[in-house]
Amino acid sequence: GIRFEKVVKRFGQNVVLRELDFTVEPGERVTLIGPSGSGKTTILRLLMTLEKLDDGVIWIGDQTLWHMERNGKRVPANQKHLHEMRKQVGMVFQQFNLFPNMNVLRNLTEGPVRVLGVSKDEAVERARGLLEMVGLADKINAHPSQLSGGQQQRVAIARALAMQPKVLLLDEVTSALDPELVVGVQDLLRDIARQSDLTMLCVTHEMAFAKDISDRVLMFDQGQIVEAGPPDQIFGEPAEQRTRDFLQAVL
Ligand code: ATP
Repeated sequence: GIRFEKVVKRFGQNVVLRELDFTVEPGERVTLIGPSGSGKTTILRLLMTLEKLDDGVIWIGDQTLWHMERNGKRVPANQKHLHEMRKQVGMVFQQFNLFPNMNVLRNLTEGPVRVLGVSKDEAVERARGLLEMVGLADKINAHPSQLSGGQQQRVAIARALAMQPKVLLLDEVTSALDPELVVGVQDLLRDIARQSDLTMLCVTHEMAFAKDISDRVLMFDQGQIVEAGPPDQIFGEPAEQRTRDFLQAVL
């Protein structure tokens, strides 16, 4: 699972996360919703070590992400620790971010071979299985530029899973897709959520998808959690006025 303890993140004078506390249980699927600028993407970027925190502690499983133990003391993480922790987290981005100069197969094998030290044969075998799962076995030799947005996003999902992460982060994964491609990618992610024991943390502006994929929804505003609960409660009978206002604006 994941745990944030009094996490503070600032960009200059702008305090984006203010002593944020929340926990995602192992295997739980949690969606972050809330107005633009409320800090949702920053939370994912902290977990990917793309941003550094200013205060507080982030846990992934039983280890701290931005700190490590040295002689019984908690000290800032070094590069080696960050590298080890990063292996546990997979992320799928809005803009796919595939390696443009590599074919689909190499997009899926490069990380496992180079970062995890998996043998080439094993990585290829696993890649084939994953491409089968995302319905793109016939595109194994294609280059990203030859694929539709929906296909690229399926490859990006397979690539994230090829790293066998404990935690999968999804950041607005369908917002760059043509409308007719959205449902296919959402269905795939819902199937993955149901079939795996991955811990999933998802940021989306699509409330139907949030309802479909989540065990729990966290409503954010100004770097704090306004309200949290199962999707039926958050979307059906929100307790907070701010949640009601937000949902009214986006639904
Ligand atoms: P959206 O729904 O629009 O993606 P969000 O809830 O994901 O919004 P964040 O992207 O986390 O919000 O941004 C939170 C705040 O942090 C915003 O005020 C944003 O301007 C600021 N911010 C994010 N990244 C940076 C950065 N690299 N430098 C400076 N400010 C940043």
